[in-house]
Amino acid sequence: MQPILIIYTGGTIGMRTSSEGYQPCDGIQTLIESSLSMAALAQLQPYQVHEFDNLIDSSNALPSNWLEIAQCIKDHYQQYSAFIVLHGTDTMAYTAAALHHLLGENIKPVIVTGSQIPMCEARSDASSNLLEAALFARSGKVAQVCISFAGKLLAGNSAKKVHTSAMAAFDSLNRPPLALANIALDFSQNTVTMSNAKTDKSFEFPSLQEKSVAVIFLYPGINDSVINAAFLDSQTTAVVMLSYGAGNPPDQNLCLIKALESAQQRNIPVINITQCYSGSVSQGTYAVGSVLNKFGVISAGNRTLEDVVTSLYIKD
Ligand code: ASP
Repeated sequence: MQPILIIYTGGTIGMRTSSEGYQPCDGIQTLIESSLSMAALAQLQPYQVHEFDNLIDSSNALPSNWLEIAQCIKDHYQQYSAFIVLHGTDTMAYTAAALHHLLGENIKPVIVTGSQIPMCEARSDASSNLLEAALFARSGKVAQVCISFAGKLLAGNSAKKVHTSAMAAFDSLNRPPLALANIALDFSQNTVTMSNAKTDKSFEFPSLQEKSVAVIFLYPGINDSVINAAFLDSQTTAVVMLSYGAGNPPDQNLCLIKALESAQQRNIPVINITQCYSGSVSQGTYAVGSVLNKFGVISAGNRTLEDVVTSLYIKD
């Protein structure tokens, strides 16, 4: 049996307390060996660990970190059966979506996980999250990038961090979980199964340097300067606009209308996402939204912010 590669990038899972609060700490292999029960370690075997030199709190993650993880998977793709990425929870959904865009589907399992409580602490959820990630990775039923957290396996491009402190910190509100770690692993129908996975896949990654994605959250009373900073900055290559309800903007805001017109003239894509937690954009159902169709704004449908932002960095 080929081993699993556990890629440790930082995050609470391996953190320890300092005078300034939790901070990333090296030595995850020793921590795993001392924290998991014998039975859990036996289930994890065979595995190897690749620890990044620059361990981060994922709040500091950059697009270059997504590429670093993808490159690590590419470099080790032949030698391992699956990849578990240990990551901070704060931007885990961005990284999982980015890896989905970079690596595609029909690949060996790439399962991103972490924990709400550090592995070194008594009530930690780290061991169960790691073990469940390994069980999903070895199930033979996963051939894509996923997040495994608190018993749920979620598609990497539709997950979200939904709670700051609950153990069940992740959900995918517009798509049911791919599987649940109940007494058995219960899979739904919509996983990409391993029988289609390419074991000799060659990956090509784009350069992300020249991209600058602006995100603007509309709210009553929004200033012109906030709108202009997002839409008119010369660096901006795409704008993600979080609008109200079914994708509705304030069409009486003349600054916004001018900014949308300018973006269209400069070929800057504008993607319209709802501020609602779930459901889909239906652009133009209301008259206020029809202006978006006029200026070529793209509806995000039911995609998450994380999915849209990362795809704008990665795809042309
Ligand atoms: N701030 C931490 C991080 O994202 C939170 C966590 O891992 O749960 O790295």
